[in-house]
Amino acid sequence: MSSIVWNFSAGPAILPKAVLERAQQELLDWQGLGVSVMEISHRSPEFEALVAHMKALLRRLLGLPDTFEILFTTGGGQGQFAFVPMNLLHPEEYADYLITGGWSNRAAREAARFANVHVVADAASNGYTAIPEPSTWSMNAASKYFHYATNETVHGLQFHHVPEVEKPLVADMSSDFLSYPLSFDRFGLIYSASQKNIGPAGLTIVLIRRDWLTNAIRRVPEVFDYKSLASTDSMPNTPATFIWYLSALVFEWLEAQGGVAAMQKKNQRKSSILYEAIDESNLYQNSVEKSTRSQMNVVFDLIKPDLLPRFLEEARGAGLVGLKGHKTRGGVRASLYNAMPEEGVCALIEFMRTFEKKYA
Ligand code: PMP
Repeated sequence: MSSIVWNFSAGPAILPKAVLERAQQELLDWQGLGVSVMEISHRSPEFEALVAHMKALLRRLLGLPDTFEILFTTGGGQGQFAFVPMNLLHPEEYADYLITGGWSNRAAREAARFANVHVVADAASNGYTAIPEPSTWSMNAASKYFHYATNETVHGLQFHHVPEVEKPLVADMSSDFLSYPLSFDRFGLIYSASQKNIGPAGLTIVLIRRDWLTNAIRRVPEVFDYKSLASTDSMPNTPATFIWYLSALVFEWLEAQGGVAAMQKKNQRKSSILYEAIDESNLYQNSVEKSTRSQMNVVFDLIKPDLLPRFLEEARGAGLVGLKGHKTRGGVRASLYNAMPEEGVCALIEFMRTFEKKYA
């Protein structure tokens, strides 16, 4: 195997090398305490200062208005599929759900266990290759919010604009959080699992409009109740301290890179050179409608599908790992999160061209 390894895994995913090196340096002695960050109380002044620092960094990175609260919790993206309706809806109430791929589909299915889900449109009819035309969306006037996934990690579809709907938006940003600047006016709540652009798996971030924190709609376990999370500075119980620390290091790294606007430029460039290489080739194809292609997860197929196992094996030999498509979709998926440098994408393109010459 090649000595340089580029990790295209969809999540848990690549972390900035500088972050891992810093964590390594600080592992045995954090802030001169003589012990690691993993071994101290989450109620210690040092850890509390880290949480404050992390929230300030995140607020700065996102330009998050003061009308929003930042909550750190656990349970991942799928946890929020349940905790959002549990916190925001009475069982007899409605919410609109737009289905554009595997994850928003699961979000709608889970929410339906807790309240009434109105499916606005379902891209299953086009094989999850395009976002259904907004003029075809059937909205429910009684719905309290409109839920969608900004980026479909499995099917490689991404919104490049904020949907224009009347209801407040609730967005699953698990796979494109912190990869572009955002305007928050139309959002009520945004959530993201950590294992793509935030850090290792184990932290879930919820951004919620403060005026949505007032009513505990029904009985929700205290550790997942948004109001209780807000009133305990996100620590109603012991958090995943090491993951929070690593995420803070990623936020610092992100700021040093120029923040989310700089990331957006890099992400646009990385994904466009890869899509170009796919579109030019006679072996690879991406069937997602061009305007909705994901900058985070580039999904493609081989026109000769029999070559797929060989493609993945030879890619691994060339140091290109984590390229296997999701089990529900197959094919190839190259995830190009913030921490993936353009150099890694160029290495993949070069490999793809060589492979095509050899076998196609
Ligand atoms: N939403 C999206 C967009 C995702 O990509 C994922 C995981 N890949 C999830 C939700 C589920 O996240 P988790 O595994 O943290 O529950």
